[in-house]
Amino acid sequence: LNKKAQQLEEVILMTGVRVEEITSSRGTDLETLETTHNKLKQNQEKYAAKFLIEIEKLKREVESSSKKTSENVEQLDKEGAHYRMKEANLAKMYIDVLGIGRKSETGQRLVNWKMPGKNNIVAGDFASVAYDIIAPRSTVIGSSKITINEVNHQLDLLNAASSGKESQKVIRYFFDNFSPDEQKWIIRIILKELKLGMSEKSVFQVYHPDAEDLFNVCSSLKKVCDDLQDPSVRLTVKEISLFNPIKPMLAKLVPIQEIVKLMGGNFWIEQKLDGERIHIHKRDREYKYFSRRATDYTELYGSNRYEGSLTPFIYDCFDSRVKSCIIDGEMVTWDPIYQAVLPFGSLKTAGLDRSTDENKARPCFVIFDILYCNGKVLIEKPLSERQMFLRKIVKEKEGHLIILEHKTASTQKELVDVIETAIQERQEGVIVKNPSSAYTLNTRNNDWIKIKPEYMDSLGDSLDLLVIGGLYGIGKRRDMVGSFFCGLRDASSSEPKFLAFCRIGTGFTMENLKEFNKNAQDWKPFDANKCPSWLSFGKDKPDVIIAPNKSFVAQVKAAEIIPAGDSFAVPYTLRFPRFEKVREDKDWKSAMSFQEMMDMKKYGTQS
Ligand code: ATP
Repeated sequence: LNKKAQQLEEVILMTGVRVEEITSSRGTDLETLETTHNKLKQNQEKYAAKFLIEIEKLKREVESSSKKTSENVEQLDKEGAHYRMKEANLAKMYIDVLGIGRKSETGQRLVNWKMPGKNNIVAGDFASVAYDIIAPRSTVIGSSKITINEVNHQLDLLNAASSGKESQKVIRYFFDNFSPDEQKWIIRIILKELKLGMSEKSVFQVYHPDAEDLFNVCSSLKKVCDDLQDPSVRLTVKEISLFNPIKPMLAKLVPIQEIVKLMGGNFWIEQKLDGERIHIHKRDREYKYFSRRATDYTELYGSNRYEGSLTPFIYDCFDSRVKSCIIDGEMVTWDPIYQAVLPFGSLKTAGLDRSTDENKARPCFVIFDILYCNGKVLIEKPLSERQMFLRKIVKEKEGHLIILEHKTASTQKELVDVIETAIQERQEGVIVKNPSSAYTLNTRNNDWIKIKPEYMDSLGDSLDLLVIGGLYGIGKRRDMVGSFFCGLRDASSSEPKFLAFCRIGTGFTMENLKEFNKNAQDWKPFDANKCPSWLSFGKDKPDVIIAPNKSFVAQVKAAEIIPAGDSFAVPYTLRFPRFEKVREDKDWKSAMSFQEMMDMKKYGTQS
């Protein structure tokens, strides 16, 4: 009974019921006590309901005031305070305050501040034109003694002014109390055109060593000023907060020859996916999707398991211990029929398609990083640790949620091989990552390096090469010649002669391939022991060959001409060759010769 009474006392404390009620029940029988208990419970509910209403009211007040500040702050950050004043209003106010006629020469100069003239060498800069007019009329000598606080106060008054009269009062105050030079700068503040010749980057650097980082993450000048007041106190935990957009780490462009040195050991090579960068935020059963530019795509992909084109399929892919997390990756389009990723353009339509057809293309999220989990920011941890953790907490689901694979490499050769494969497979490119690197927000540094075939084209021109042989494809394409040997014309020979130079396996459309295979009888099986005199191969041999007069000239794009060892008939070949088109206007006689290739190697263009 005493225990029950004690519990009731606690209830009383919470509900404010009179103490006598409970003390009088103490020591009585259980029935009376139960009655009191029930009465008190009712009371508690009544009070609790009241209390909840109060809380709700308070919450709404807080929300609306924080909305107000965040709106203001946003404007401040993006555009500065709104004085609703352009040059024309300011001209009008100064004309009145200075008592100069609008039609007078001075008045006209202020109104037509943009107009160049011999007396108006500062035309185009309203603040300087105003200075010229204010200076001879001002009675303030030297700098004023007015504090920044007072300037801010006056600017606040201007911001809040509801009539021209109120605004004019502030302008008059400025004229009466500030030197012409000070007014020039105040005008610039009002017009939000400081013309300092200095970017925010420089200001951030002087203000605090972490100012730029923090601003990049939160986009709030107010927060930067509030949180970073002492330059000697560093920001320890990088700002990452759930359900707020984060500016992702980006990839840098670096010459391929420098990558191995920059990585200084093992590095990871990932496919560069062609989709849209998205961060998924999860808190319990709620999800949010943000793009790289902070666009909120939650409505499209779904805020919970019942909504959107992705969340219903992935909500059960997280370990049950994951209460909250932020994952980074690329949203791509998945084609269930081909079991493959489709090109970028199809993404939005796939996301919008709400039909339940299982064969329809649909959004699929490919994860490559994790930034936050259960209240812990993970970005300072090395990439390899983050990946390991990611694999522990996320279960893949084909066609909906995939964790991106990587290859580990340490040499230039391994890197080139992976890029070559990527090109053969028509991937967009690759991203090289340092496995021991932290995740740096909104930064491009040497820890993530992007390589795309087109970045590597140091050859200014394409090469027009005769196709001399081919290899059959694999899988669906095993009945077709799918990659092609190209040769260089040996101009020193009196007979037609071609020297194997490179192999191209990418850049064709399906139509191209069908066209090249149309006359199957032209492709003759190649026998290394009976190589025709007009042909010469190196170690790499074709399955089939084609006579020069039956063949075609392919326009080929490549990164550079490199030494080939003994793979081909000449000691050079192309790095990352890609087919561009058929040169209908050329034949074997006008295809590129060995000498022309050597000239191109030297000068970078086709002579
Ligand atoms: P680009 O036009 O080459 O994609 P970008 O300026 O949009 O360049 P970058 O920082 O240069 O972006 O390249 C990184 C982008 O590549 C990321 O924003 C992401 O969308 C995409 N991406 C694709 N695959 C990966 C990957 N494996 N790791 C990181 N980013 C990837």
